Amino acid sequence: RIVYLNGDYLPEEEAKISVFDRGFVMGDAVYEVTSVLGGKVLEFEGHMARLERSMNELEMHCDLTRDEWLAIHRELIARNGIDEGLVYLQVSRGNAGDRDFHYPPEGTPPTVVLYTQAKPNLADDPKAKVGIKVISLPDLRWHRRDIKTVQLLYPSMAKMAAEKAGKNDAWFVEGGYVTEGSSNNVYIVKGNKIVTRHLSEDILHGITRASLLKYAAEAQMEIEERPFTIEEAQGADEAFFTSASAFVMPVVEIDGVTLGAGSPGPVAARLREIYLDESRKSAV
Ligand code: PLP
Repeated sequence: RIVYLNGDYLPEEEAKISVFDRGFVMGDAVYEVTSVLGGKVLEFEGHMARLERSMNELEMHCDLTRDEWLAIHRELIARNGIDEGLVYLQVSRGNAGDRDFHYPPEGTPPTVVLYTQAKPNLADDPKAKVGIKVISLPDLRWHRRDIKTVQLLYPSMAKMAAEKAGKNDAWFVEGGYVTEGSSNNVYIVKGNKIVTRHLSEDILHGITRASLLKYAAEAQMEIEERPFTIEEAQGADEAFFTSASAFVMPVVEIDGVTLGAGSPGPVAARLREIYLDESRKSAV
């Protein structure tokens, strides 16, 4: 695989970063994941806007323009022959020299890494046909979840706990209400209404979420942005989650309670179809 590191396209074995890199030492890095369908990047502008916001919130700087970011995405997709898959992008605050909590001096170059992962069945994911089973866990992450940092240890622990329980993923709960999934935004469906938590520092502002709510509104669905509990979700008609890599994914079981008939509901299925159609149309 050919990867991108600080301006160079290299075989993955040759792409090396410093042991002093703050992404490695401090988790001082932000990232984005975008999907590729038909060799094109989905939701490019949204992901770039969020990347810029994450970096601004952390006073991190990177000189690459959106055109340059796009050129790197395209070059990697071409060089690795990706038709369906993902592009992972990470910017860390760079090599700080000796370990120090303080940020390195202004002008220290960031470390920029991008690579692709081929996923031949990304759009046609068999999980979307059977649905996902989730457990709930307390949300023990930090309180700036709106910044997309690489501090993913707790989400990893949560996914391992779900796997040990024989389920697929975890939903996080704080103050009695669901915040989001371990790597996705979550929704419940009641009749023609979609309920999803409002945006704040408590959750990541999903790029898929923003587009999905727009498409749902255009399809005359009612949208309520408010917190909900696990109990309310267990009693809903349907549940689903969204993320750049899973698109719209039906949830059929929460903490051992089966939703409806235990198979993906019509609203999630329809939204998945709409989302895939629309995001393919706007892919670049
Ligand atoms: N919430 C969390 C915690 C995530 O990690 C992600 C995606 O990685 C999302 C939500 C969904 O965001 P997006 O739709 O931009 O992928």
